[in-house]
Amino acid sequence: MSFEAECPECAAGVEMAGDTVVGEIIQCPECGAELEVMDLNPPTLELAPEEEEDWGE
Ligand SMILES: [Zn+2]
Repeated sequence: MSFEAECPECAAGVEMAGDTVVGEIIQCPECGAELEVMDLNPPTLELAPEEEEDWGE
């Protein structure tokens, strides 16, 4: 089972896997924006804050 939510950036439908959890970051396949899952019922996405993550390279 999967959900579909609307990208707040480009209004495209973004498919979310059935095991998606609130707080997960997914990427819009249309515009490439990083989106945070705010809610699952109804599926709600919000633009994730841009963060400079240091992955310890
Ligand atoms: Zn988008």
